[in-house]
Amino acid sequence: MADKRDYYEVLGVDRNASADEIKKAYRKKAIQYHPDKNPGDKEAEEKFKEAAEAYDVLSDPQKKARYDQFGHAGMNGAGGFSAGGFSMEDIFSHFGDIFGGSFGGGFSDFFGGGFGGGSRSGGRRVQRGSDIRIKVKLNLQDVVHGVEKTVKINKFVTCPDCGGKGAKNESDIKTCDHCHGTGMITKIAQTILGQMQTSSPCPYCGGEGKKIINPCKKCSGSGLVKSAEEITFKIPAGVQSGMTLTVQGKGNAARQGGVPGNLLVVIEEEEDNILQRDGNDLIYTLYLSVVDAIIGCTAEIPGVDGKLKIKIEPGTQPGKMLRLRGKGVPDVNGYGTGDLLIYVQVWMPKKLDKKEKELLEQLRESKNFVPDPDNDDKNFFERMKKMFS
Ligand SMILES: [Zn+2]
Ligand SMILES: [Zn+2]
Repeated sequence: MADKRDYYEVLGVDRNASADEIKKAYRKKAIQYHPDKNPGDKEAEEKFKEAAEAYDVLSDPQKKARYDQFGHAGMNGAGGFSAGGFSMEDIFSHFGDIFGGSFGGGFSDFFGGGFGGGSRSGGRRVQRGSDIRIKVKLNLQDVVHGVEKTVKINKFVTCPDCGGKGAKNESDIKTCDHCHGTGMITKIAQTILGQMQTSSPCPYCGGEGKKIINPCKKCSGSGLVKSAEEITFKIPAGVQSGMTLTVQGKGNAARQGGVPGNLLVVIEEEEDNILQRDGNDLIYTLYLSVVDAIIGCTAEIPGVDGKLKIKIEPGTQPGKMLRLRGKGVPDVNGYGTGDLLIYVQVWMPKKLDKKEKELLEQLRESKNFVPDPDNDDKNFFERMKKMFS
């Protein structure tokens, strides 16, 4: 432990990094070096542990202050790390904090089956309840402001009659004779490399270490029953179709002593009739009358939070894009807010009465009505664009 790296260096942040920056940096490292992603890679595992240890200190204001003042020396002894360092349990204790409510394709898939299943505690398998995946439809208002949703889900919960033990009385549960309660069967085999020890879950008790003699009637000994539960969770602003929100621990309950699965909320956006979404920007198509486009006007734009006024300059060409900064969708990771883009179309009247026609006839030969695209700004920019592309 003598040549420990600086915690800030481990996470690749500077000493003045905010709590949020530290969290983001750790999250990045945790994904990069996650054991599920790097099976059998010792170096990755060390880096993964190192990052978790750094985060454990830097995410805790008290530990951080002590570390800032005394360095690694301040971390030993009371409240610090023992010589044994960091266990996998310590590492995974951070995951709820880091990945809880996190987004991004593949995230929950990646972590969903990651822990649990194979992890062990004192030799016995730690069961993990399965995840439940649901879809939630959001309208544009929900997406822009974030929303709290309550859903009713039919799922496995711990049996209320036996408390998940599978039997009402302790005396109805016996330690498995085959594995002596460890849940594992260990075999020693002689191989050319010497003695090899292999362990596998006990087939007689399913790895639980126990046998139930007189099963609970309500759950038939499984310890689980189906029940409807209302679950409320918050969806942050800026989410997009296909993203998955993980609500920790709200999936199916596990058998006794296990960890519940997660509720995975898949986002589905409803299309808005008026505002079209393009990343964090919103696009509105504004139809101007010929006269408004020529003379200029003040146009009303139906923004997400009500009407917005925008000045239309005289001589606005169809196809022009106007921008209302910050009136789009907030970034899901908190990197600012998109814009509201206004795409200008000019409506050509399709029929005219006699008087309208007469008025326009008078303008037909008027010099300002003769097209002059070469002197138009928009065309100038388009020519520039072509030159550089
Ligand atoms: Zn029961
Ligand atoms: Zn057994």
